[in-house]
Amino acid sequence: MSYIDAAATRMQINKSRKSGFTLVEIMIVVAIIGLLAAIAIPNFVKARSASQKAACIANLKQIEGAKATWALEQKKVNTDTPTDVVNGFNMAANLWSATLVDNITININVGLENISNPSIIGETSCSWLNPTNSSATYTSFVNALQSHSRSADDASAYAHLQSGPTYSRWINGTTDNPNGDGSLTPYNDTMNWVGITTANGKALGLTLDDPSFSASDGTIKFSTQWTNRFDYAHGLTIQSDKIDFVGAAAHEIGHLLGFSSGVDDLDSLYYTIYRGAGTNFSSNAIDFFRFSSLSLSNGLPDYTVGTGYKYFSVDGGSNAIAAFSTGVYLGDGSQASHWTNASPRVGLMGPKAGDGEKLDITQTDLRAIDVLGYSLIPEPSSFLLVLFGALLCFRGRRRSINPTG
Ligand SMILES: [Zn+2]
Repeated sequence: MSYIDAAATRMQINKSRKSGFTLVEIMIVVAIIGLLAAIAIPNFVKARSASQKAACIANLKQIEGAKATWALEQKKVNTDTPTDVVNGFNMAANLWSATLVDNITININVGLENISNPSIIGETSCSWLNPTNSSATYTSFVNALQSHSRSADDASAYAHLQSGPTYSRWINGTTDNPNGDGSLTPYNDTMNWVGITTANGKALGLTLDDPSFSASDGTIKFSTQWTNRFDYAHGLTIQSDKIDFVGAAAHEIGHLLGFSSGVDDLDSLYYTIYRGAGTNFSSNAIDFFRFSSLSLSNGLPDYTVGTGYKYFSVDGGSNAIAAFSTGVYLGDGSQASHWTNASPRVGLMGPKAGDGEKLDITQTDLRAIDVLGYSLIPEPSSFLLVLFGALLCFRGRRRSINPTG
């Protein structure tokens, strides 16, 4: 039943190199599987008990309106889907490849599955460095980041990281909260390991659990209910009654690259027997750049659940670059592994997609990916702009969001 075991139907696609500048090879292994029973939810809960392994975040995009239309369409079977999906994923991979210079290969299993919840377009599960791997220690993480410091953002962000073998963060909702079991009052908690996706680990040059690099870096599944609802072209505009498939796929790849917050673990486990102590929740890589007004007092990143304002910062929280979402259950209704859903849209890693909306990587997306340890192409060349002019939209937005009291 699993994707990876479906060897007979697996098809390997080697993406053709589009230009000399695209040094990231995101290889896509496509497993097209038809109408499997939806098994995501029970496995999801079970895997969460491991606290880290399954963190990377599902249920991306919910459609905003026009639900009646596709209720009819979802009964259709589109036999052209595999080609559309494969081509769409290659385009999505190219969007990232065109922005990054890291010479790594990321393996992604891609498939279709009958996801019963009609509001879910797709699901992503990331592969993570094993927490027992010495590469997953905070010390290794910081050393790797600093050795991959290339940009001004990197220099600033890493200079504000805590020194020593452990880190502290604001956290709440845990069983060992000194304010009471499950209290949402924030407290300081100390940890020594970090949640790092294997894709991110590659970018950081960390020793992976599978040094051959042959293991999957994650699985992305799209719902068969949605295949007729996608615009696969990612052209200048998206059809007004369809979702941008290439943008949605690039969004999912963004989670695999490391845009995935451990706060979603805390949020989703809050009501379950698995929720556990603070030590069950490592901060993920991106969580070291997640701050709130609490951070202004002591510079610690904010790992708490709840609706309070959380923002991306590369200077220890002094200046906000963009707001994050804060959680499905205890937060604002969207997974914390996203930018805020408030308008204007921050970037590709926003939580929702609407009909006719083109989803593109923005400068703010790239700043986040940059400080995770990836290296950006400094300036898009004119060649790339021609080649990808219709695909990339560098909005150059650097609006500042000041922390609220
Ligand atoms: Zn997402």
